[in-house]
Amino acid sequence: MVFEFVDFHCHLDLYPDPEEAMAECVENGVYVLAVTTTPKAWPRNKEMTRGFKTVQAALGLHPQLVAERASEIDLWEEYLPQARYVGEVGLDAGPRYYRSFDQQRLVFKRMLRACARAGGKILSVHAVRAVTAVLDMIETDLPSTRGRVVLHWFSGNQTEAKRAVKLGCYFSINSEMLRKHRSLEMVAALPMDRLLTESDGPFIQCNDRPTKPNDIPIMVRELAKARRSKPSEIAGVIRRNLLELVSEERSWC
Ligand code: MN
Repeated sequence: MVFEFVDFHCHLDLYPDPEEAMAECVENGVYVLAVTTTPKAWPRNKEMTRGFKTVQAALGLHPQLVAERASEIDLWEEYLPQARYVGEVGLDAGPRYYRSFDQQRLVFKRMLRACARAGGKILSVHAVRAVTAVLDMIETDLPSTRGRVVLHWFSGNQTEAKRAVKLGCYFSINSEMLRKHRSLEMVAALPMDRLLTESDGPFIQCNDRPTKPNDIPIMVRELAKARRSKPSEIAGVIRRNLLELVSEERSWC
């Protein structure tokens, strides 16, 4: 598998031309996890990424959509045997979504249990104002021997980060996480062997336009600065972490 950079959380299907966005990643050597927000998008994403080793589709049901789409958990579960990667899933207790929080918890619990039963799944998890709840549920329902969690846009404090590390979680870091002093400090203290990068495109802006997986090198430079390391070293560490995470030979698969 040949790639230089890693974008472990990108909504490729939400760009105006997803096929073109994907071709650009392949051409530029960016490994991409194409997350989805509803299981209805799964067949299309799976088809688009078929045959590509460095672009993988993930089966999702976004917590922000659970209020209107909770019933799609049945479809999500039906597709799960076809998917090795799961996301975007998780919990969101932010002001716009806390009303559906109980429903989100039920859906997320069902997902974690289904993943634990199946084994070998890799999840990209959203946790907004719900870090403790997400970690509690991972601890109860998805042991690290049954699946792996990558916390996307992790917004917890250092204590919560340490707990996540103990639970076996990885962290996909995006450019927004490097903007604020508090989260920058948290990122700088994470163990090197749990770091990945993500764009969360097209939701994050870069130079006044929606960011793309191609912007990952810019972020790697910033991350290297925060970690007092060289961009080439950080990029190498992230490549190794990705290969370790997705390796088929892992004992838990
Ligand atoms: Mn996202």
